[in-house]
Amino acid sequence: MTRVILDLEWNGAWSKKAKGYFNEIIEIGAVRLAEDGTVADRFDAYIRPAVSKKLTKLVTNLTGITDEQVEQGISFETAMRRLAKFAGDSDVTLMTWSTTDLLVFIENCRYFLGQERIPCFTHYVDLQAYGQQRLDTGSNQVSLENFARLINIDPDKMELHHAIDDSVLTASIFQKVYEPTSFAAAVSPMNTEFYRRITFKVTYISDINSPLIRRADLRFSCDCCGRNLKRTGKWKFYNRMFFAPFRCEACGKDFTGRVQAKHKYEGVELKKRLVPKKEKEEQQENTALST
Ligand SMILES: [Zn+2]
Repeated sequence: MTRVILDLEWNGAWSKKAKGYFNEIIEIGAVRLAEDGTVADRFDAYIRPAVSKKLTKLVTNLTGITDEQVEQGISFETAMRRLAKFAGDSDVTLMTWSTTDLLVFIENCRYFLGQERIPCFTHYVDLQAYGQQRLDTGSNQVSLENFARLINIDPDKMELHHAIDDSVLTASIFQKVYEPTSFAAAVSPMNTEFYRRITFKVTYISDINSPLIRRADLRFSCDCCGRNLKRTGKWKFYNRMFFAPFRCEACGKDFTGRVQAKHKYEGVELKKRLVPKKEKEEQQENTALST
């Protein structure tokens, strides 16, 4: 089993074919690790853009990559052939810092190679998720530089935002956080289920009658007396959320029930909240109704 750490730089380009913005890869940097986790070999390639020749100011400022540099680059297809040679094994674990690079990589393989899967990699590890799990940093994503500082690696010594330097830095992080048992558990085979999960587009359900929403989740009980509330108006969808007016007939209190249904690969994540209606709002509503 070979391990490759990869980092990409890309340029936001408007694409007719993709019918929207497309993140076109302009640099692939990678390191292949030896058995002991040290860097055995490096791969660095500039990709000549095919969708948008002009790099955005943001990309040039952030990466220092110029139009001239990428103009002398190779095609994405050629880069992928060379990368496969570089990986050089039938069993290769791909590692990136967060899944962002992975998703851009998949997007480019679809666009340029017409393939749904990334060639030459069979397994995947999100090193950001793994590192954060090892250090117990919580669920907020930590940037590569900040994570390096957390484990006393000075990222300022390296030239950041060049794909190859970021891969080398990620490799130093890997060496510090690696532990065989937990790492083995972090490895995912890149099978059909993996691609489905990783490319699943999270959406907010906007149809209140969707079978994905259980009717019981649309009911509320009074926070004073505990009785079931009566819905006194229609559900409305606004700002990724459903709203409806509710009333407790026993207490005579009015509420607004809010429900948000986020459709994730794992299923529907439901958030609900009951907010007492303020008298002021009621007065305003009454005034509005009477005029
Ligand atoms: Zn009540």
